[in-house]
Amino acid sequence: MPVEEVFVALGGNIGDSQTIVTQAMDALGNISQTSLRASSSLYRSEAVGDIPQDDYTNAVALLGSSLEPTALLLELQAIEHAYYRRREQEERWAPRTLDLDIILFGDRSFNDSHLIIPHPEFAQRLFVLEPMFEIGGDRFVPGYGSLRYLIDNAPAISLEKLS
Ligand code: AMP
Repeated sequence: MPVEEVFVALGGNIGDSQTIVTQAMDALGNISQTSLRASSSLYRSEAVGDIPQDDYTNAVALLGSSLEPTALLLELQAIEHAYYRRREQEERWAPRTLDLDIILFGDRSFNDSHLIIPHPEFAQRLFVLEPMFEIGGDRFVPGYGSLRYLIDNAPAISLEKLS
């Protein structure tokens, strides 16, 4: 397998989420056949949805990986579980310790019952687009357009880059 560029979004809003996201970023670099090429700053974003909850800490990692997408997803889920995420108890938009999503995997599109690439909601999520732009610069995402265009057209949210 050739090495491909993979963008992974990290987020959490339970516990010391800045520490959890920072540690998860390190864990991404320890996945087999995978290296951490760049990590964004941490960002603070307001929670989306109707459930009142704490702000999220978000970041994006740029990986180089020769794993297949489904194998990488399993590795991400193992990292999530290491932070005691209880997926079965969660509702959509419910607070979570750590959420790891594959956003882009090279220029691939992939769609099965467990994995959709590009991530189906990334273009609506400024807390993903801004950190992607920070580490990857502007780039064209097939089927979507340029990151700059997506940032300019994503729903406005409160998003703060942390130092
Ligand atoms: P959530 O954590 O709520 O974003 O959703 C987790 C579920 O989304 C998992 O069961 C995955 O199988 C599925 N999923 C589909 N596409 C993706 C993706 N691109 N990255 C991560 N999980 C995905």
